[in-house]
Amino acid sequence: MSTAASVLERCAALGRVSEEPERLVRRYATPAMREAYELVGGWMRDAGLAVREDAAGNLVGRRDGPGKTLVLGSHLDTVIDAGRYDGPLGVIAAIAVLERFWDRALPFAVEIVGFADEEGVRYPTSFLGSSAVAGRFAPAWLELEDADGVAMADALRDFGGDPDAIGSAARDPAGLLGYCEVHIEQGPVLERRGAPVGVVTTITGQTHAEVCFLGEAGHAGTVPMNARRDALAAAAEWMLAVESVARRRQGTVATVGKIQVEPGARNVIPGVARMTLDVRHTSNAVRREAIADLRAEAQRIAAAREVELDWDARGETAAVPTSPDLGLRLADAVEATTGHPPERLASGAGHDGVLMAEVAEIAMLFVRCERGISHNPAEAVAEADVAVALDVLERFLGDLA
Ligand SMILES: [Zn+2]
Repeated sequence: MSTAASVLERCAALGRVSEEPERLVRRYATPAMREAYELVGGWMRDAGLAVREDAAGNLVGRRDGPGKTLVLGSHLDTVIDAGRYDGPLGVIAAIAVLERFWDRALPFAVEIVGFADEEGVRYPTSFLGSSAVAGRFAPAWLELEDADGVAMADALRDFGGDPDAIGSAARDPAGLLGYCEVHIEQGPVLERRGAPVGVVTTITGQTHAEVCFLGEAGHAGTVPMNARRDALAAAAEWMLAVESVARRRQGTVATVGKIQVEPGARNVIPGVARMTLDVRHTSNAVRREAIADLRAEAQRIAAAREVELDWDARGETAAVPTSPDLGLRLADAVEATTGHPPERLASGAGHDGVLMAEVAEIAMLFVRCERGISHNPAEAVAEADVAVALDVLERFLGDLA
């Protein structure tokens, strides 16, 4: 069997390790995650790695070497009803590549990290695993509770981690050579460009907000059209503005993903319309300009319709550029493998690299996925594309050596 085929087989095996029988769900510090660690830890040992878990519950496989440490990896948790490649592919591919270096010397140590939580499904915070490694784990998170009322500290302790020693999971930047992650693209760009893999230039920044129009509920039959303060009509007008503002600024993506209407009845004029807003761009400046425009539009619509506007900023993350040096090495490895100049693209999704960039230079290699589908059991990658990714990562390591 080819290495790529065995990587796909391992992704399939790991994809069967779930909290639920009918769909793939693997959240932070659950028994399913423990079972996944047994499996992946075994593969790491078979590749000659020394396996341990850090205080935050990340799985770490280490190959000793002189000098600094190159970190490879991705996350082992999943969303609800997930596909089998988002996260695990990066860990399993890294193990397969280190197997190829079994009897070859490297002038640095390598660690493969399977991050314990990236998706943030169990607790209302994401990137728990890489936050700990980056020294950005907020102790207050340990008090957060899951849907069953289990505090994170208790879940982590049951899992075998050590909530009192989270700080020990943090890595010293001085000891790190860099971080490189293989991940499915989760979008259609590589497929459209006809490329098996691509080198990530930037992980886009994000702004989140909750936007609410407050009008006045009333009788759908008795209040004339010119006397209404319809919150949902205001929201509808603004949602179209979200779309057109994003389209005007190239590379901007803006989404209203959720809307709640109150009271929510056929015969009542909506009094409240509450929406989520998610805006992303590779340029922090462009993203902030888009947000300013969207706010101005919301204020204009609210004033014209005599409804109130409540804009609740829910935080932002800055765009994270990948390392020019590591990116160039990765690009050279792609060209040497495929014979074509590498495709470069931004990541619209957040990744562990965002946190790892706090302690190391980062690089990311995207693998084409079928129709760009992700966070969905239909996620699929081609064996030939995985083979390219493995060869690229092998060349990248050889080049660093
Ligand atoms: Zn992922």
